[in-house]
Amino acid sequence: MQHETAPGRTGPPAEQLEIINPATEELITTVPVTTPHQVDAAVTRAAAAQRSWAALPPADRARALRRFASAVDGHIEELAVLETREAGHPLGNACWEAGNVRDLLDYSAGGVERLTGAQIPVAGGVNLTFAEPLGVVAVIAPWNFPMPIAAWGTAPALAAGNAVLLKPAETTPLTALRLAELALEAGLPEGLFQVLPGEGPVTGTALVEHPRVAKVVFTGSTAVGKRIMAQCAATVKRVTLELGGKSPNIVFADADLERAAAGAPGSFLDNTGQDCCARSRILVQRSVHDRFLELLEPAVLAFRAGNPADAATDMGPLVSARQRERVRSYVPEDAPALIRGTVPEGPGFWYPATVLAGAPGDRAAVEEIFGPVAVVLPFDDEDEAVRLANDTDYGLSGSLWTRDGARALRVSQAVAAGNLSVNSHASVRYSTPFGGYKQSGLGRELGPDALAAFTETKNVFLSTEPSTE
Ligand code: NAD
Repeated sequence: MQHETAPGRTGPPAEQLEIINPATEELITTVPVTTPHQVDAAVTRAAAAQRSWAALPPADRARALRRFASAVDGHIEELAVLETREAGHPLGNACWEAGNVRDLLDYSAGGVERLTGAQIPVAGGVNLTFAEPLGVVAVIAPWNFPMPIAAWGTAPALAAGNAVLLKPAETTPLTALRLAELALEAGLPEGLFQVLPGEGPVTGTALVEHPRVAKVVFTGSTAVGKRIMAQCAATVKRVTLELGGKSPNIVFADADLERAAAGAPGSFLDNTGQDCCARSRILVQRSVHDRFLELLEPAVLAFRAGNPADAATDMGPLVSARQRERVRSYVPEDAPALIRGTVPEGPGFWYPATVLAGAPGDRAAVEEIFGPVAVVLPFDDEDEAVRLANDTDYGLSGSLWTRDGARALRVSQAVAAGNLSVNSHASVRYSTPFGGYKQSGLGRELGPDALAAFTETKNVFLSTEPSTE
């Protein structure tokens, strides 16, 4: 079989992944890749485990997932340190991420016994619907939030009675591998949840093309997502896509400007901007533009870049040299900036917080940069704000700041995005649905309907006509 190499690499497929600490550029370890042949064997093991898992009494499956949640809870610090080392996330953020995995496992466990079908009134008999598991599900995760995003697919899929094969990103497989060990320690059956490290075009493709994989949950770039969706068509696989974003942060003149400016840095600098929900387009009503920038500057400069293991750090490095090159391609070194922060000297894939003056249509104003860079665009009225907000192929999230409740609802309804926040930048809760409009994705994760996305609906009609005997 012919395989491409991963983007950014040339030559034959790798046999080992080199895991680099992005804050020091030191090699942490190497991890063997999963070959297509090994993927096939993993699917066979997963299918066998899934049959017995789905046959368990629901309360037993729920208990097993709660034990998995407890095992994660007992290792929050350890998982967070791993995330800090391989992804460069500040330790406090990484602890939140590990806690999100625990909470989602608990929440999903609560859904196992509530995954009901329906009885629909019909003529001549009884009509029942059943929510049946799909079988083997592939979860393909990105490197920006390796732990939570792995769990967003895995936890509800397991709760709905499926087996999961998780392919972490090339640069960040360590937390996923540790989660799989914790699942086994918690008593989940061998083979039910397997982690298959490897390159996207090799290991990922083998999963996407495998005829016995029933669904692919993909989180990553829009370009790769489109390709995976097309590949899934070959076997009519189910697919959920969580893709890119270029989210607006709309600041109206009637907003609490101090609060809006204090919140803005975190909304595009958290995770060094490597966040699909990053509010990287700041749209400010012209009458308060200058005042807002005066307030924004000290807030951005106070956002401290440094050693991710240090509790005082707000922002770590970018994940890789490749990602830094990508960010640099949007912002030439000497580009005039409205605000530019500082980063540590020496090794590490650092990039300073940067705020640019944008013009509609600028590459930096419409494409996802995935780095600590925001563009400020002025607008005159509500209609222009909505038009600018929607002037992108993406539609994942966004914020708006106003004291006018009616405007808050009007604009929320007019902006084509899956997750909007008013006077806040919070987008993600395990108990509320998350996903994108337009080219930001397909389907929803998290929230009360998450398990249903991992089931097939079966309808059965039982005739109640008396027998003719
Ligand atoms: P990416 O698309 O390069 O890779 C994502 C995953 O897909 C990795 O595991 C990779 O190995 C795998 N992959 C790559 N090519 C593949 C192929 N041909 N077949 C199968 N698998 C393949 O994305 P990335 O650079 O790791 O992540 C950044 C992107 O993820 C950004 O665009 C970001 O917006 C997006 N993202 C979206 C969400 C969301 O929920 N909407 C969340 C986080 C990240």
